[in-house]
Amino acid sequence: MTTYNTQQLQEIDGLHHIHPFTDHKALMEKGTRVITKADGVYLWDSDGDKILDGMAGLWCVNIGYGRQELVDAATNQMRELPYYNNFFQTTHPPAIELSKVLVDISPPQFNHVFFTNSGSEANDTMVRMVRHFWSLEGKPEKTVIISRENAYHGSTVAGSSLGGMKGMHAQGGILHDIEHISQPYWYKEGGNMDPEEFGLKTAQALETRIKEIGIDRVAAFIGEPVQGAGGVIIPPATYWPEIQRICNKYGILLIADEVICGFGRMGEWFGSTVFGIEADLMPIAKGLSSGYLPIGGLMVGDRVAETIINKGSDFNHGFTYSGHPAACAVAIENIRILKDEKIIENVANKTGPYLQKLWKDLENHPLVGEARGMGMFAAIELVKNKDTQEAFPDELGVGTICRDFCFNNGLIMRAVGNKMIISPPLVMSHDEIDELIEKARLCLDLTAEKLGIN
Ligand SMILES: *Cc1c(COP(=O)(O)O)cnc(C)c1O
Repeated sequence: MTTYNTQQLQEIDGLHHIHPFTDHKALMEKGTRVITKADGVYLWDSDGDKILDGMAGLWCVNIGYGRQELVDAATNQMRELPYYNNFFQTTHPPAIELSKVLVDISPPQFNHVFFTNSGSEANDTMVRMVRHFWSLEGKPEKTVIISRENAYHGSTVAGSSLGGMKGMHAQGGILHDIEHISQPYWYKEGGNMDPEEFGLKTAQALETRIKEIGIDRVAAFIGEPVQGAGGVIIPPATYWPEIQRICNKYGILLIADEVICGFGRMGEWFGSTVFGIEADLMPIAKGLSSGYLPIGGLMVGDRVAETIINKGSDFNHGFTYSGHPAACAVAIENIRILKDEKIIENVANKTGPYLQKLWKDLENHPLVGEARGMGMFAAIELVKNKDTQEAFPDELGVGTICRDFCFNNGLIMRAVGNKMIISPPLVMSHDEIDELIEKARLCLDLTAEKLGIN
């Protein structure tokens, strides 16, 4: 590859590269930040500046950067067999081995997996499989999937339709028979209710909606155990048990989108088990390979697998790269490292609690209305007035102001509206967590100063 300097890179980028979820004109004015290398929990940009990655890339680099074992796994596999497919009665060892590895770490009802290249594809696969399932069950009119406002399930047509982001629905339209109920976002929508009461009431909206639509039409409910891209929204303890009760009562499928929560972020292999959710299907991606190569999948529980396999003939679905050998080899090695280095136990017992304790202390900052989190996953609500929860006007872009201070002070923290969120690599040490908190506090101070608040 040619070596360009930062300015040349930015120029070419502006001319030829359309970025995901980006206002391109604004981007060109500012110039992109070019990330050139990474190690452990740190990134370096093309000017040589070192940055602490509080987001694990995009919620995915769970074991951190620079792990030679994953490089070797990919290299060896690419030398041996760089590509072959899993269509038409063929397969290869890495896909077979990864399916077994995944079944071993999944809750007991999961004994099968369908491979994809991303979380979006996993959710597309889910929509087709759910509707195919009900058709094989003799109920082809059961097509409606109920999701939640402000959910994120990817960016393909099915993914964005399942998601509850209005800005996404407005571009390109939405798939038929997807409905949205409200989210368990107590801080913003809880009103005068205590969290437990609010959790129950929000879950009960599912039952109301099922009755409105008619049970003969409803196929499934989907939710992220903790909403990620929506702003690390942690449901009250009463929420998931009530959702589970309703799904069981009406016999609809329950889908836990584990694309972020899976692979240790919450201190267990999956977010479902943290909340006692017994899912029928689990889309996975991101932490599955720690982002080193693209791979996703749909974990298929016995209830669905038995019908698809025993009653079905062809499931007319698949991707050229479903179960790509190099990506599977990397995922196998990633899961081995998560296990052998007891990274998930560490999140549960050491790093997670340590991060959460320091994070909670940010609540004493004048800008912070709430600091919440679980495992290696956290958010703060930036507010104009802590006591009244009065918000800053959206136009002010307070999140973006704070994010830019972070960028310029060597920390990646993401802004979602007026929320700042982190989802760091699971391997972050206590010293690195101290650094993260220190930098976060500094950037909150700078933001407060800029807004004239103290
Ligand atoms: C990121 C994400 C997806 C989409 O995954 P992609 O790999 O970006 O397609 C789906 N669901 C959840 C919960 C996600 O966070």
